[in-house]
Amino acid sequence: MSDLAHIPAPFRDDIDDVVLTAEQISDRLTELAAEVDRDYAGRELLIVGVLKGAIFVMSDLARRLHVPSSMDFMAVSSYGSATTSSGTVRILKDLDTDIEGQDVLLVEDIVDSGLTLDYLFKNLRSRKPASLEVLSLLTKPSRREVDLPLRYVGFEIPDVFVVGYGLDFAERYRGLSDIVSLKPGIYAS
Ligand code: 5GP
Repeated sequence: MSDLAHIPAPFRDDIDDVVLTAEQISDRLTELAAEVDRDYAGRELLIVGVLKGAIFVMSDLARRLHVPSSMDFMAVSSYGSATTSSGTVRILKDLDTDIEGQDVLLVEDIVDSGLTLDYLFKNLRSRKPASLEVLSLLTKPSRREVDLPLRYVGFEIPDVFVVGYGLDFAERYRGLSDIVSLKPGIYAS
């Protein structure tokens, strides 16, 4: 059990444990950015963040990249229960740019069943980018329902519901610096 003293008081009682510290996340993103830099040397990259969860991954990754990159965002809603997705995805905000012929890196916070990303990947691929790869900070392999080409993965985590570092439950907890698990009573109905 981790020390929760640094978690802001209004959230502390809701939290079960710290799954990944801010320092672990930062170190891993530095490694991933170095990998991306190697793979895209001499090219320019369009990084596409999936709102809202991927905002911190996007900003921390982009600040570590040395290859020239531009940014765009999509927002999607995935129908399902409060903590699982159904794969029926609706685009709430589309890209501002035409990605045809561009090297695109899709940046996700977490891949769970994979249904949301499967939809997004196919949707973006149909727009004929020069290349399309995926970076996800987190993945829960035990929950996967579809096979996905995840090129860069930050951490594999067990089947626990996590929040913080951009991830929410009912729009709360996004601003926490660590990724933490919630007490089951908070999200189980
Ligand atoms: P998938 O379609 O892969 O099942 O789910 C992807 C989406 O479900 C993520 O982008 C995220 O919004 C949400 N999600 C899945 N697992 C978690 C989790 O542990 N915590 C939070 N906060 N959201 C999750």
